[in-house]
Amino acid sequence: MAIDRAGLNALMEITSRPELIFVRGQGSWLEDQTGKRYLDFMQGWAVNCLGHNAPVMIEALMRQANTLFNPSPAFYNQPSIDLARRIVDASCFDRVFFANSGAEANEGAIKLARKWGQLHRKGAYKIITFDHSFHGRTLATMSASGKPGWDKKFAPQVDGFPKANLNDLNSVRALIDDQTVAVMLEPVQGEGGVIPATREFMQGLRTLTRERGLLLIVDEVQTGMGRTGRLFAYQHSGIEPDIMTLGKGIGGGVPLSALCAREAVSCFEHGDQGGTYNGNPLMTAVGVAIFDTLTAPGFLDSVNARAQQLSDGLNRLSSKWGMKGERGAGLLRALIMDRDDGPALVKAARERTPEGLLLNAPRGNLLRFMPALNVSADEIDTMLLWLDELVTQVRR
Ligand SMILES: *Cc1c(COP(=O)(O)O)cnc(C)c1O
Repeated sequence: MAIDRAGLNALMEITSRPELIFVRGQGSWLEDQTGKRYLDFMQGWAVNCLGHNAPVMIEALMRQANTLFNPSPAFYNQPSIDLARRIVDASCFDRVFFANSGAEANEGAIKLARKWGQLHRKGAYKIITFDHSFHGRTLATMSASGKPGWDKKFAPQVDGFPKANLNDLNSVRALIDDQTVAVMLEPVQGEGGVIPATREFMQGLRTLTRERGLLLIVDEVQTGMGRTGRLFAYQHSGIEPDIMTLGKGIGGGVPLSALCAREAVSCFEHGDQGGTYNGNPLMTAVGVAIFDTLTAPGFLDSVNARAQQLSDGLNRLSSKWGMKGERGAGLLRALIMDRDDGPALVKAARERTPEGLLLNAPRGNLLRFMPALNVSADEIDTMLLWLDELVTQVRR
């Protein structure tokens, strides 16, 4: 199949993309227009938690497509009720609002916190976020993000997101004033380079926010839904946040996200929040199928076993090549290299023949691994073997 260049140019240019068109996917594998296969350790940025085209997702989507797409958010539908019920039963939250993307769920969290500030904190509206954090690409979520340079893009920013340093409680304490309503963070900074918040820091934040009457918001768009080996990453630290957002894995590849809150914080009044597609049954039916797969007995045990295998393998590779180790949680991991080989390795991996390998380098010296949560032991061994060969090739 030839590539339609005029067609490519009909798409708005937003990033540099290789001249490949993916036509088929199955599990951990993608196939391009020439029939070449790629072992996928990006999975759409930790989105496809069950890999490409998981049979349970296809079945749920087809079944729902034959029944009802979208009665409108002005009415209830059964799949959204079923998914909300599952999330509530499995977490410390009482209420769920479904949306279509992580950024949209985070916008909802920001609005909910500001509403709560109007009702309970004399109009306090500032939300302390963190350097190098990532919360999305809408104006408010870009303003909340701590990506270098983003404070100048599309200025003026949405006001009210002072930045603290991850794992530094004093830097948070120093920013709290009368206008502060919440602290928001990723339990593991994903785009920032797979940097986990420590258990002590999460616990310290919970104590501090309680003492000062502030909300604690966890952005689990990347870390939620089993990615870190627990269903939700906040569960590793034994704390209970007030608000959580989910995205990526909750839809497994279809557009679905969620804003979850405890009852006392669920203070939207009629008309405050909504959206044309929120909670549509076509997407939430897929969400139910994914949720039931991730919570089936043994599933998260296998995620943890694969995570250990990946971590061990990356550590071996690191020692062999004099790199700086690895870090992460569950199947969200990064290899820390001793030089800025990242982009060259990503390119060499993709161009590898006969089969390619899809990797991500969020920083020059970092490779990030986000395989499907049902990746096999063989696929991890294959990736590690190929990566070792690729390092040899790139450093030759
Ligand atoms: C990907 C991501 C988002 C944004 O999600 P979109 O669906 O791209 O809007 C927000 N927060 C975190 C932590 C993410 O990883």
